[in-house]
Amino acid sequence: MAASRLYRVEGVVLKSAPLGEGDLLVTLLTRDGSKLRAMAWGARKLTSRKMGHLELLTRVDLALSKGRNLDTITQAHSLEAFNVMKSGLESTAKAFYLAEMVDGFAIEDGANPPLYSLFLDALRAVQDSPEDNATVPHFQLSLLQVTGFMPELYRCVECRQQILPSDHRFSIDLGGVLCSGCVPTGARIAPLSLQALKVLRHFHRSLEPNSSSLQVSDSLHQELRSILDGATRYWLDREVRSRAFMDQVGRQKSESSAPRG
Ligand SMILES: [Zn+2]
Repeated sequence: MAASRLYRVEGVVLKSAPLGEGDLLVTLLTRDGSKLRAMAWGARKLTSRKMGHLELLTRVDLALSKGRNLDTITQAHSLEAFNVMKSGLESTAKAFYLAEMVDGFAIEDGANPPLYSLFLDALRAVQDSPEDNATVPHFQLSLLQVTGFMPELYRCVECRQQILPSDHRFSIDLGGVLCSGCVPTGARIAPLSLQALKVLRHFHRSLEPNSSSLQVSDSLHQELRSILDGATRYWLDREVRSRAFMDQVGRQKSESSAPRG
């Protein structure tokens, strides 16, 4: 086999799908920020030494062999296991949600190194502070920013005038803030509170989700979520499926912590 067919890559396992008897189709975000799908033949067999290293949300070092369609993973070595699953359901649900969004926005053969460091920062933030409800919205805005889908937060998307405090609305279709004077036809427009606008601008200025150190109330969280989920859905043109799982875990948590009697 020619040496040029072999290569090594670092990445985080985003998802894996069982194929055939004991094989695995693995999707990773690689260190250069591009998406890679590769086959791990026999990885699901109990005797496979690759199995433990290819778990979801593990940062791995891989040796691969180029194939005509898909490359083949010949060796896998775990570099960092994000212990989100051991930290409980809430962090697991959040981490799956992050991974699904990255899978949606990352492209094969499209290098984007900031995307990789953003994803690692967010996984570490979820692992270290699973209850911090600023992490996911902060990550969503940063994800839109590094992939080129950043919403406009400073000037009206219609008339380009600077947005004044207490004179702002938001349109997902038009990609950002609108002044109250502009009434574009056919666009969906939602109210946007000053507090939510300030938090979005704060997220925009600090890319890393772990540097937010913001207290986000439940109502503000709902508002940010409606805007950012809407933008994510608009650009991906589909629902992020693990959102439902994250919501279910959130509901169970608030039911179990509600005062009884
Ligand atoms: Zn305007």
